[in-house]
Amino acid sequence: MTTTSCMMDVPLTIELVLDRAERWMGGCEVVSRRPDRSLSRTTYGAIAGRARKLARALVAAGIRKGDRVATLMWNHAEHLEAYFGIPLAGAVTHTLNLRLHPDEIAFIANDARDRYLIVDDVLLPLYEKVVASGARFERVLVVGAHGTHESYEALLETATEQTTLPALAETDALGVCYTSGTTGKPKGVVYSHRSTILHTLVAALPDALGVTRADTLLPVVPMFHVNAWGLPFIAAMSGTRLVFPGPHLDPPSLLDLMAQERVTIAAGVPTIWLGIREALDGSPGKWQLQPGLRMVVGGSAAPEQLIRDFDRLGMTLIHAWGMTETSPIGLVSRVPAHLADADEAVRYRLRAKQGVPPPLVDVCVRNEAGDVPADDRTSGELLVKGPWVAGRYANDATPERWTADGWFRTGDVARVDEHGFVQLTDRVADLIKSGGEWIASQELENALMGHPAVKEAAVIGVAHPKWSERPLAAVVLKAGAQATAAELCAHLAPTFPKFWLPDSVVFVDAIPRTSAGKFKKTELRETYRDHYAKA
Ligand code: AMP
Repeated sequence: MTTTSCMMDVPLTIELVLDRAERWMGGCEVVSRRPDRSLSRTTYGAIAGRARKLARALVAAGIRKGDRVATLMWNHAEHLEAYFGIPLAGAVTHTLNLRLHPDEIAFIANDARDRYLIVDDVLLPLYEKVVASGARFERVLVVGAHGTHESYEALLETATEQTTLPALAETDALGVCYTSGTTGKPKGVVYSHRSTILHTLVAALPDALGVTRADTLLPVVPMFHVNAWGLPFIAAMSGTRLVFPGPHLDPPSLLDLMAQERVTIAAGVPTIWLGIREALDGSPGKWQLQPGLRMVVGGSAAPEQLIRDFDRLGMTLIHAWGMTETSPIGLVSRVPAHLADADEAVRYRLRAKQGVPPPLVDVCVRNEAGDVPADDRTSGELLVKGPWVAGRYANDATPERWTADGWFRTGDVARVDEHGFVQLTDRVADLIKSGGEWIASQELENALMGHPAVKEAAVIGVAHPKWSERPLAAVVLKAGAQATAAELCAHLAPTFPKFWLPDSVVFVDAIPRTSAGKFKKTELRETYRDHYAKA
């Protein structure tokens, strides 16, 4: 092929990030909180060496280009090794979400055809359940106390310099994450080296997440949720000191870590920050945090009051929007210079919106009449396109998620204001997001309607001060039948994760319906909107 430019043809692969982290940031520290609460310390240099060992060991063990290697792990240094080591072997990292029901983890692992699994010792009980649910892994490598299982450390020791690693192309697959929350089956989104590099470069920019070499970063967002929003790659690229929380995600543990390790930027869903705010307000002066500490917040809308409260506490909340399908960064809210002196109320309103797309990404908001005007009133579906936006699902031909002119339909309803700021107003589907995790209302409804006493059931998300939303079930009993809320929840318990179970079951005479005969959830939501306000 002839090219017209004079530039070198360097494939954009994750190897560039790892090489740089090793060579130029090799001494930069990576701290991990262990299950026993102790802290272990390593460096990018050591992690790079071990990631290469992992890659060689995997290749020597028979892992080939495109093979899937799963992880079932908390956030810590070994997980970062896997983030680099698996793709260096030419394989694809599949981060399994440990918060899902074992049946669902098993389905996803089998659907992805995961060959090997790297698992934390403390997650072995979950692993056993996943296997009992039908997951098939050829080899299981345990990080930590491995008991009768094969040890991850022993696998690393099998690596030899003689094993050559495969050449990587920028279009090669690097990782796969599964969507969750639809009533249909989860769908795999496969990221390439190129999409990951471009996402990493742009997400680090000052007007995106703004992660620098001067920072110490605490990713609270799990590495099994959209690759912790890309932060592990961003940190390695930027030479940012990393502090991983391990399994200890309660507010006092996080605050101890933030104070002790002098964290300057952290990232997580709003629920985490609601808890942190409560802890800070409850024990003023207890934690000496870094002045100007920033928190990246996404996954659900950041409430304006939370942004105001953190300003009061000397911390800055940065609001971002994204999806598994968008790698995830798709919108970030930053107040522009010309509005720096605007009314305080205007600035807070802007910061509570989802914002504008970063470079290389484009969004539009469209309804039946076409692209909506920037009037802050007319709403439509948010559409997105860009080099780190999925062009298809790995295992599912659902072309209806893409428009004929190449946009990805997010399923989020939004409007645009006169400054071009996008604000999400609703979801096309009726999914419930509790503590950053999805709950599929229709699945709960169907299961409830499987109870012998239930005639009809509709489940809605109701705003909750701690979890953002919690499910509420409206139930119509069959004539003459009897059932209590506790009995109905006990009926659901064997099938769903505990956090899916409705906090309230209300018994009603009828569920309102649309003209098409469907449950009219908008009306139900209106009726019960304040139900959990005092929870
Ligand atoms: P997931 O693919 O699990 O990350 O979920 C993506 C969905 O989370 C989006 O389609 C939105 O509905 C929601 N979401 C993510 N970030 C935000 C945000 N900042 N504000 C409101 N909703 C959000």
